[in-house]
Amino acid sequence: AHGDAGSLTHRVRPGIEPTKEGGRIIVEVDGRVAKIRNLKVDGRPDGFGDSREKVVAFGFDYCYWSVNPEDPQYASQDVVFQDLGTEVLSGAAKGYNICLFAYGQTGSGKTYTMLGTPVSTGMGMLYLSKGLFIREDDCTPLPSSCRIKVSFLEIYNERVRDLLKQSDQKKSYTLRVREHPEMGPYVQGLSQHVVTNYKQVIQLLEEGIANRITAATHVHEASSRSHAIFTIYYTQAILENNLPSEIASKINLVDLAGSERADPSYCKDRLTEGANINKSLVTLGIVISTLAQNSQVFSSCQSFSSSASDGGNSGVPSSPSGTSSDGGRSRRQSYIPYRDSVLTWLLKDSLGGNSRTIMVATVSPAHTSYSETMSTLRYASNAKNIINKPRVNEDANV
Ligand code: ADP
Repeated sequence: AHGDAGSLTHRVRPGIEPTKEGGRIIVEVDGRVAKIRNLKVDGRPDGFGDSREKVVAFGFDYCYWSVNPEDPQYASQDVVFQDLGTEVLSGAAKGYNICLFAYGQTGSGKTYTMLGTPVSTGMGMLYLSKGLFIREDDCTPLPSSCRIKVSFLEIYNERVRDLLKQSDQKKSYTLRVREHPEMGPYVQGLSQHVVTNYKQVIQLLEEGIANRITAATHVHEASSRSHAIFTIYYTQAILENNLPSEIASKINLVDLAGSERADPSYCKDRLTEGANINKSLVTLGIVISTLAQNSQVFSSCQSFSSSASDGGNSGVPSSPSGTSSDGGRSRRQSYIPYRDSVLTWLLKDSLGGNSRTIMVATVSPAHTSYSETMSTLRYASNAKNIINKPRVNEDANV
């Protein structure tokens, strides 16, 4: 990830029992590098490092090996929570917008990472709001004037539903995304709930999750088909040079649909329901790769202008913003199709915008998931190239 903008994380969930599926573990974590081995390229059966085996390595900001608790490098929920939760909370306290995505194939551990369970296996990321309340006790400036609101929505088949409003399951996917000229995209009519203690957050979280499960039985068959976004709006009143001011932060915690929903070859043989191919997920992929390409154009522009101003002998004037001249070919920043899907429109600010964004890519270690794991690692690696421009949301003299 670039500087302040966010980070990329990769987590390997426990494997299948190797004997059961005749499976072998093909993923390895080495510090901040995740390696995946292609068993189809024949090699020595004794592991990594054989030149005849095709091992591809990907670097991330954090890599977690959560396969076997006995393993010394095992990363528990607490470890993940400690790293990422702390990053989210400290960003929110400073007034940055934060977005945390879980991306990966169904069954790879997205929900486990996001939700976990508060007691038995440790808290998932959705429980991190606890830190905001603890912070309050922890004498952050003017703690009593912190306000926290939450909302919880689900996107299914390009429609939005409020998970915190009771309504007829089948008719409830009716909310629309609109764009406010200053505040950006928002869901019209989405309920926001003021909370004054952590217990209330958990009650709302549980209510929303129960609602999501009910919809999964009435409307679609599994949560692997829908995206859920839990949003925490955190506002702190502060005094700056004796003048009242406000710092506002929005934390979006996103449990995405299974990444296989973006793959036409996966969906081709299954029943042709509109939601088989997930438009939001496909568009998310396009947005991420376009942003990554644009970031490359941007950095090549920058290095070009700096070499020109360094007295480079090319004699070519520096390019206007958004374009760069590359050996006579003009490279232009591509249009980002945020509005092509509900998810990308709603999270526009978290993708190349005013947000610190963390993507957790979850994978299974088994060879039976080779293609999905490879595609998840590539996807996450691509996302790493995106440059966000997070800024503190400060509103002076409120
Ligand atoms: P997804 O949300 O990606 O479909 P889940 O989070 O439901 O996947 O995980 C699938 C199964 O694997 C669940 O039974 C879950 O409890 C288990 N699991 C996933 N990740 C871990 C982990 N890191 N440690 C222990 N169990 C895990």
